[in-house]
Amino acid sequence: MSCATDLLVIGGGMAGLTAAARAARSGLHVTVVERAPALGGSTLYAGFLWTAPSAAAMAELNPDGDPELAAAVVAGFADAVAFVRELGVPCGDAVPILRHGQGHALDTARYVEACRRIVLDNGTVLTGADTTTLTVSPGGAVTGAEIVLPDGTPLTVRAGATLLATGGFQADPELRARLVHPRARDIALRSNPWSSGAGLRMATGVGAVVSALRAGFYGHLVPAGVRLDPDRFVDLALYYSEHALLFDLAGARFVDETVGDHLTTMALLDRPEARGLLVTDARGHREWITTSYVEGGPATDKFALARRAGARCVVADDPDDFRAIPPEWGYDGDRIAAELTGQARGARPSPTRRYDPRPLDEPPYYVVEVAPAITFPFTGIRVDTRGRVLGSGDAPIPRLYAAGSDIGGLYAGGYAGGLAAAAVLALAAADDVVATQT
Ligand SMILES: Cc1cc2nc3c(=O)[nH]c(=O)nc-3n(C[C@H](O)[C@H](O)[C@H](O)COP(=O)(O)OP(=O)(O)OC[C@H]3O[C@@H](n4cnc5c(N)ncnc54)[C@H](O)[C@@H]3O)c2cc1C
Repeated sequence: MSCATDLLVIGGGMAGLTAAARAARSGLHVTVVERAPALGGSTLYAGFLWTAPSAAAMAELNPDGDPELAAAVVAGFADAVAFVRELGVPCGDAVPILRHGQGHALDTARYVEACRRIVLDNGTVLTGADTTTLTVSPGGAVTGAEIVLPDGTPLTVRAGATLLATGGFQADPELRARLVHPRARDIALRSNPWSSGAGLRMATGVGAVVSALRAGFYGHLVPAGVRLDPDRFVDLALYYSEHALLFDLAGARFVDETVGDHLTTMALLDRPEARGLLVTDARGHREWITTSYVEGGPATDKFALARRAGARCVVADDPDDFRAIPPEWGYDGDRIAAELTGQARGARPSPTRRYDPRPLDEPPYYVVEVAPAITFPFTGIRVDTRGRVLGSGDAPIPRLYAAGSDIGGLYAGGYAGGLAAAAVLALAAADDVVATQT
């Protein structure tokens, strides 16, 4: 079987659906192919459309990211918010997010549904359909893809342009180990389970270049060893770590925790066994563990939840209690006790990098063993600011685009929003396709 379309979109999350809806509204025929039984991907778990509010703030949050892509995300953010609102999907008032970010609460399920309806007015949505191979003309232009429908029927889609938006490779342990960090093979997955690198494989199969390896990933600390079911992705993310201290197996602090949980998460991956003890005190418990992370977000007692979920959790009345950490946990409790004893007497926390965290001086101490969980990698397909996939010599591969967590290079060791980045580059890609086809 075969069919033709103006824009073939592979992956039906924020990036794919935004591009599809924009192109459909501009009069193109669009075909969206989604591997999961339903649209939405990781987008359905997300609640804030946000990024850095200025180029300077972006540079502070993401100093090593690709400057052109980062500038494009900042510059295109207002258009992305306007596009969401044009579809009739409410986008809340601006609120601060993370250290320097700003954004809007967004009902992503409503957005996904709004995009789906627009596409269906002038196109097709195929769910439960897998895509593994791009087709290429003798001149090297991508001409569509080979799809397998849910009943096993092969379908060749001939397309004027093709957008890869499969949401990254975080669900593939081998790719995580190869492209993120050898220890990332075994970390917890905090994303949809379908994003296992199809976009990356298809792109490299036609000559696309992959951005720098080991650029980091977006994720959060979660209680170690606990099953991370999707309905607990948000509740079990220990955002409060920026108001706590994190100790590795040697009992040492190794990161400035105040920079934010998502950055501390990357640092922990680099420590032996990628696990650590997250410690805060009564004040941290009162002011941060049991309150909501961003305005309008849910307030859950994360310590109580981690304990109920079976994580290693302890309330310690005194620094000396750390000397009695069970040996099988493997931590140098004497060293942690010495650090906390000093702090209880008014010493600053031992120095790490840039900022001073607040000393823990109000016992009892709330202790959770934590590990990193990955939401999406920062390594991926290289694109330009029009979403065009780049091949050798930075030449765009004709008629091939990528957006969302499939792309790499935008972020490197820093982070300023996933939804916004996906939407902005998806809009840019759709506009480029429209411009070249009309
Ligand atoms: C718990 C959680 C909370 C988050 N909160 C926020 C937040 O508040 N703000 C924010 O900015 N970001 C947040 N994020 C990150 C955000 O969800 C992602 O950045 C965003 O979803 C990326 O969009 P995407 O379209 O690239 O990927 P996705 O939304 O994951 O969509 C990719 C789609 O491609 C499909 N797919 C995979 N392989 C194939 C294939 N071979 N063929 C066809 N389809 C395929 C997948 O099934 C999926 O539906 C959060 C993520 C999680 C998990």
